[in-house]
Formats: sequence, C-alpha cells, structure tokens
Amino acid sequence: MNLVAPDAFRAIDPEPPFDLHTLVRKLYPLPRSLTGDGVRETLREIGRHVRLRIHEVPSGTPVLDWRVPPEWTMRGGSIRSLDGDTIVDWAGNNLHVMGYSTPVHGTVTREDLAGHIHTLPEQPDAIPYRTAYHAQSWGFCIPDRLWATMTDDAYRVDIDSELAPGSLTYGELFIPGHGAEEVVVSVHVCHPSLANDNLSGMVVAAALAARQAAGRRNRLGLRILFLPATIGAITWLARNEDVLPRIRHGLVLTCVGDPGPFHYKNSRRGAPIDRAVGHVLRHGGHPHALLPFTPYGYDERQFCSPGYDLPFGCLMRAVHGTFPEYHTSLDDCDFVTPAALEQSYRLVADVIDLLDADRTLVRIDGRGEPQLGRRGLYRAIAGQSEAGGATQMDLLWVLNLADGRHSLLDMAEQAERPFAHIKAAADVAEQAGLLREVA
Ligand code: ZN
Repeated sequence: MNLVAPDAFRAIDPEPPFDLHTLVRKLYPLPRSLTGDGVRETLREIGRHVRLRIHEVPSGTPVLDWRVPPEWTMRGGSIRSLDGDTIVDWAGNNLHVMGYSTPVHGTVTREDLAGHIHTLPEQPDAIPYRTAYHAQSWGFCIPDRLWATMTDDAYRVDIDSELAPGSLTYGELFIPGHGAEEVVVSVHVCHPSLANDNLSGMVVAAALAARQAAGRRNRLGLRILFLPATIGAITWLARNEDVLPRIRHGLVLTCVGDPGPFHYKNSRRGAPIDRAVGHVLRHGGHPHALLPFTPYGYDERQFCSPGYDLPFGCLMRAVHGTFPEYHTSLDDCDFVTPAALEQSYRLVADVIDLLDADRTLVRIDGRGEPQLGRRGLYRAIAGQSEAGGATQMDLLWVLNLADGRHSLLDMAEQAERPFAHIKAAADVAEQAGLLREVA
C-alpha cells in the first residue's frame, strides 16, 4: 500500500559547488610526485575552492616503520639527437621522465639508453607512468612507436632534477560536526598527468569539502586528506593518534571519473560504511560491484592495517591495474567525463548524508502497534510525499524494528526500502512521540 511513489535516495543539493572537469583540466599538467612543488601547486589550486591546511613534514622524519623521503625537484628532461633535435621533452608531457629520477647529463649509446627507456609494446602510442622512489636511478617513458624510430648510435640525455632534504607536503581540511565523531575522505595527490587515477578523486573530494563548508552543519565532522600515496597516509597516521578514536567512517576515493560501473572495496573489519555505500549504490540504481577487502590497492591498506583497523572502504569506478588506460598517458582529461565526475560526487554526498542521518531509535511504548489514525500518522505520511516519500509500510517497519538494536540503515536494509523513506517515517513517528533516540 504505497501512499506515495517511492523515489531513489537523493542528495538535497545535487549540483557540485564548482565545475569538476574544469578543475581536472587545470590540475592535469602540474608535475606532481611524492614530494615537491607540483604537489604544492596542486594544493594551492584546490585551496581556491576550499580552505586547506598545508602540512610540510621534513625529509628524514621517522613515521611508523618509514622515513619521510628526500624531496624531488624536477626542472626539465630531454632526449636529443647529436644534431640537437629534441626527440623527447618533459615539458611537453611530465610522464616522460620516471618519477624520482636522479640527474643525468651526457651522451649515451642507444644500447645504454635502452636500459633506461620504458615503453608499452602492447599500446605503442601510449606513454607509461613509472616511478623509482627508492631506486636511485633515472629513466624516460616514451611511446613504443617513437622508440622504434630512434635508431641513431647515440643520444644526448639530460634530466635536470635534484634529490635533497626538503619536505613531504600534504593537505588537510576539517569541518567540525555537532558531535565529536567524524567521517574521513582520503585521496592521493602524487600522480602527474593522469586524470582518472588521482585527479578524479581530488576534485570530487574538494567538491565534497566545499559543499560541507558552505553552511551545512552535520552531526559528524568531515575531514578530507590530500596525501601522497602510502608515505602520505603513513605520515598522517603517525602524526594523528589523537584523531583516530573519533573516526566513525572512512572512505578512500580513486578512479571515480570514468563512465564505467562503480566498484566498492569493503573495509577490513566489515564497518557500517560498507553497508551505507552498498545501500546508496543499490537504491540509486547504479551498476556496481562490491569487492572484498584485500591488502593491496590505495591507502585503505594503511588505514586498515592491523594496529589501526579503521573503518575505511575504497570507492572506485574503473579498478586500478585492470583498465587499459591505467598508468598511461591514455588516462587523460578525455578519459574522465563531466557526467561521471558529477555522478560520483552525488553518490558520495548521498553516502555522507546517509551516515550523518543514521541513528538508532527505540519505541517509547513497544507493546503492540500504536494506533496510527488517532495520532494523525496516516495523514502525516501522506502529506510528506515531496520531502521524504515514506509509505505506510515504511512506518510499520520503523515501528516494528525500533527496538534499540536496529539503526535506521539496519531497518532500511531489512525492509529493502530506500534509507530516505525509512528516515522520513522515523521522523514522523518521533514527532508523534512514539520513538526516542538511543544514545
Ligand atoms: Zn596510480
């Protein structure tokens, strides 16, 4: 008996606060790495949309089992013919020089150069993305088709880089809630010109922060972390022991700009965020797959390491390492679409809203069914069709499951109803004095 037509769970303000794809294009050419000015410039640009706190952690600082690495400064890199023709230029695409390459200047034989050239024979027009964070080596990444044409006996190579004590840079933002608990969203900021892998997560996270900062006052605080991969999360964890007990939910975002189906990797411990994301995906009608936790991937593997075991899942569209554009120059601004970025933004906004609204209620007098007509509840349910879309059936589920042991999300899952409907029904019953919140 539907009193109103059911509707999918929707965010209150579905429009992103700024154009996501424009920000992707703006950030795309910046030469990011684990450390260095590319990360700083990126955070400065994001800081135009949300007020970020930038942290600088000196090279050599011990963090858990690691040390903050030296800072890599990159000024230029090229391969030229001995006649002086430029064949490969880092200025044209910052994927051309392997990340953390040591400096090199000189003439090398083609044979010696071959040991420093990375190509993708299966994708002959693509430039691979390679790093050598701890290898003390140098390299160039170029299309295989170009390498095939480079048949001179020797070439002039130059990499104007520096590995020296400096700092690791990361960005952080915290918007407090009414209570002490918080939701953390974490993204990577270390990849250079790759759009889906890193940039899509950055712009969606920045938009979520801007949305929350624009006057929303939630129960849960929202913390957003813009971190270089692995060492960034390890550094943040080492410096924020006091924050960890307040983390109620955590989400790593990556590769959320391609138009493919969603993939959500569950938390290690089976946290409520897993059911929240699954619920929003299912009731939003999004094609998706839910994946089990594995100790490989993005920074969920740091947050979910056994000494922390924090409630973090990872939301993706294309899954890292499995799509042909991954870690190649084909992961460019055309690979991510405005529509997919906005859809991912709305999805995560819905998840955050759900987590914020989820609470546990108990019937004040749980003996038998309350008389709904006398309390005007039929009318209340029918009257709120625009706001919540709850039905009489939703109300009956709420009144039955409000035993203090079921949260609103538990009820929505058991009733197989959209969370917003269950919440609307619970609001009506609470206003009628039938329910109270369990602390
Ligand atoms: Zn990557």
